[in-house]
Amino acid sequence: MTAHVFSLVFIAFLVLSTLLQLWLKTRHLRHVLAHRAAVPADFASQIELDAHQKAADYTAAKMRFARISIVWEALLLAAFTLGGGIGWLDATARELAGTGIWAGLALIAGLTLVNGVLSLPFSLYATFVLEARFGFNKVTPAVFVTDMVKSTLLGAALGLPLIALILWLMEASGSLWWLYAWAVWVAFGLAVMAIYPTFIAPLFNKFTPLADATLKQRIDALLNKCGFASNGVFVMDGSKRSSHGNAYFTGFGKTKRIVFFDTLVERLTPLEVEAVLAHELGHYKRKHIIKRMATMYGLGLLTMALLGYIKDTSWFYAGLGVAVPSTAAALILFFLALPVFTFPFGWIASRGSRKHEYEADEYAAEVSDGSALVSGLVKLYRDNAATLTPDPLHSLFYDSHPPAALRIAALRGQGRG
Ligand SMILES: [Zn+2]
Repeated sequence: MTAHVFSLVFIAFLVLSTLLQLWLKTRHLRHVLAHRAAVPADFASQIELDAHQKAADYTAAKMRFARISIVWEALLLAAFTLGGGIGWLDATARELAGTGIWAGLALIAGLTLVNGVLSLPFSLYATFVLEARFGFNKVTPAVFVTDMVKSTLLGAALGLPLIALILWLMEASGSLWWLYAWAVWVAFGLAVMAIYPTFIAPLFNKFTPLADATLKQRIDALLNKCGFASNGVFVMDGSKRSSHGNAYFTGFGKTKRIVFFDTLVERLTPLEVEAVLAHELGHYKRKHIIKRMATMYGLGLLTMALLGYIKDTSWFYAGLGVAVPSTAAALILFFLALPVFTFPFGWIASRGSRKHEYEADEYAAEVSDGSALVSGLVKLYRDNAATLTPDPLHSLFYDSHPPAALRIAALRGQGRG
């Protein structure tokens, strides 16, 4: 492989990935607007025309915004790589911090900062214009700024030592450095998962033990029935940022917590909340969490092995606009360029995820109440203005959850809905 050929391959994949994404967003936009006039028959009794049309308009607005973001990100990536942006930042970092790990850290921190500034207008628009127009945004400018400061500090506190360690391994631990770096990454990920519920999440939200006694009783009964031990059931002030509702699990082992968004507990009946929780339990009971982690760490190992090979080539650096190879440049170029090559295969991962959602629904219908899950889901679709009529191809690539109509048909088909 020569640098020139690699540049051409990269450009081809960048153009292909960008066009594919734009085409999918456009298909979705057209499909949703084409079905805007009437609520799909399956939902006609539970969802008003108003809510359906709001969901269509919300989806359309998000797709138009996504198309602009996609083009902007592709241009940025081209400027950072082929345009010589990273080569320039790397040279500047070496002038300021000499060689070695400090220069590498300076490059990565500098790039993160530049990227953060360049994407700021997009997150401002998404939060204060797009979400606000549809009545979802609850973020005040003060919350926005404190969130940004907190996540930057947290990212620096956790990320910089990790990157320093990986850069050091890349330089000092011989030809198997990528294996050690992978092990460090796995250990780091597990440690963050373990401290997330008790140390990280509370930096951003308030968690209060579930107070509603009837609901608590119902949930304890379900946990008992499923043989599931958790370290408490909490309600999170999700309404501080958004009126979207949700439920999730966090942590693992002994730190495992069940978390409901306050908005969810307010809008769903106790039986519906129980059914939504049963779905989440289904992900554990059907071993989805373990499978997901094993897949992620397995793919991570392949990725690191590939980086181990690429780091010692010269075509990779020169092909992506960096004249003088460096350890940090290898790391950055690799992880910036990788998604361009993997996007066309993203549908494989989404398909696996949707299969798990069907299985978790099936579990919920077994241990709880399938029809309550259906009515709870319909409320969530309605209140989150999630479209009921997605474009099938867009859904194939992007959706971690099956389209509403298919999901609900599957639940009803089990005879319990
Ligand atoms: Zn799920």
